[in-house]
Amino acid sequence: MTQTAQKTADIRFRVELKNKPIVIYKVRSSDDTQDYNVTVVRGKVNNCDCKSYKPCYHMRDVQAHEDERALETAQMAADRKHIEELVDDGDPFFAPRLCRDAFCDEFGIYE
Ligand SMILES: [Zn+2]
Repeated sequence: MTQTAQKTADIRFRVELKNKPIVIYKVRSSDDTQDYNVTVVRGKVNNCDCKSYKPCYHMRDVQAHEDERALETAQMAADRKHIEELVDDGDPFFAPRLCRDAFCDEFGIYE
């Protein structure tokens, strides 16, 4: 590691604004004295309120974080669609199972 090693943004949390396509990331400054706000509009990093020349490393890392999230969300949507198709096709794996008591009632088994 050298003095010129790339910094990594210390992302603290992510806030989604209700009813707006805007996300705000709180990122800790590298000297751990303040938080910066990085705004993301429709999945694209828009700005950062630190004093560095833009795009700063906060913006770069937040964009990477957003891209990863978008990918995960897309993967989850694809998985859900796949499972829903299996259920619609009547895959026995998803057939409802009776709990033990209901099973006993259903088949008149009394102990
Ligand atoms: Zn910044």
